[in-house]
Amino acid sequence: MTIYSHSRLSTFEQCPLKFKYKYIDQIETEIETSIEAFMGKLVHDALEKLYKDLNFEQFNSLKDLFEFYEKEWKERFNDKILIVRKEYSEKNYKEMGKKFIKTYYDLHKPFNHSKTIDTEKRIVINLDKNNKYRLQGYIDRLACKGNVYEIHDYKTSSTLPLQEYADKDRQLALYSIAVKKGYKDAEKIKLIWHYLAFGKTIVSERNDKELKKLEEDTIKLIDEIESCTEFNPKSSALCSWCEYKPICPNWKHQEITGQLSLEEYQKENGVELADKYVELSQKKKKIEDEMELIKQRIFKYCSKNDLEVIFGTDSRLFCKTYHNLKFPNKNDPLRTVLKSTLKKIGKFEEVAEVDVFKLSRILQSKKWDEKTKEILKNFSTEDTVQRIYVGKKYR
Ligand code: SF4
Repeated sequence: MTIYSHSRLSTFEQCPLKFKYKYIDQIETEIETSIEAFMGKLVHDALEKLYKDLNFEQFNSLKDLFEFYEKEWKERFNDKILIVRKEYSEKNYKEMGKKFIKTYYDLHKPFNHSKTIDTEKRIVINLDKNNKYRLQGYIDRLACKGNVYEIHDYKTSSTLPLQEYADKDRQLALYSIAVKKGYKDAEKIKLIWHYLAFGKTIVSERNDKELKKLEEDTIKLIDEIESCTEFNPKSSALCSWCEYKPICPNWKHQEITGQLSLEEYQKENGVELADKYVELSQKKKKIEDEMELIKQRIFKYCSKNDLEVIFGTDSRLFCKTYHNLKFPNKNDPLRTVLKSTLKKIGKFEEVAEVDVFKLSRILQSKKWDEKTKEILKNFSTEDTVQRIYVGKKYR
């Protein structure tokens, strides 16, 4: 059985196709990492050095850490590192990293708030008794103060999350399961995030009930991944940082056509077809809007002249007005009351219908067991539907 990690799980949640490329097909790409991840790694390395050396009674000055960081940057930076925000250069990111180290250093000097047990500590979490569901992770810094254990995590992101986000965070909470099992004297485990761009620390804790639920949810997610057969692409703003963008079916066309001259671009078959489709969709929308206006005028005309049929040059229009009863829609809370009322008065079966669209979706997912699906599949036939959705272009 595969050993999972928080980032492996998050990749699946972010985009199943990226998960497949990365962990199943193990496709190598020209992009090594993003500049943000590269800078973050070196900041982590500098802070790791700080605490590792302290355990050997060697105190690093800020200057020492900067020297280490700059040396590492020089040796490890290469042109396979992706810079998405073109308005910023390598130098900008390098300076950001230095600022993060300084912010942390100034805030926590002389670093004796707690005793460092280990840095970059590998932990393995067994989520079930049979060791079937296992995860591994690395704690940036594990420390303790008496019987209070601290799991420290350095964040170099440019957003500061709300406390409620930290209270629901999966990664450190999972690590705390391993710490709790591994250190029997642990009375309390604090999850501590250092948001270096803001000089802020966010602290959270989990109780036993929350950790139990987290274990169950993580097992469910692993089951979903293990039984997944269709790894579909899931576009989001994070695609800009995805190393598989050049081969992804959601972006490959843009990546290829982006290399063309303006003239070649406008003549490219896919571009031409997309432009034609959008042009026709817009015309169709305009016609539909015009028809709606004409319809309103027709009914006004009929009403004024007491007519139900009007004649054109070659056609007749039958203009009927129907009066229906409207009931609460799916999202209206009254809908539930309506349903239970129908059931109570024994009329539900007369008006209930099978939602075949929902049924089809469930049968293609892993929600129901195989036996149930087999029974129901006998009622279905294979059908192919092709749809086009028009969206805004963004990079
Ligand atoms: S580019 Fe986006 S949609 Fe494509 S694989 Fe990467 S994350 Fe998924």
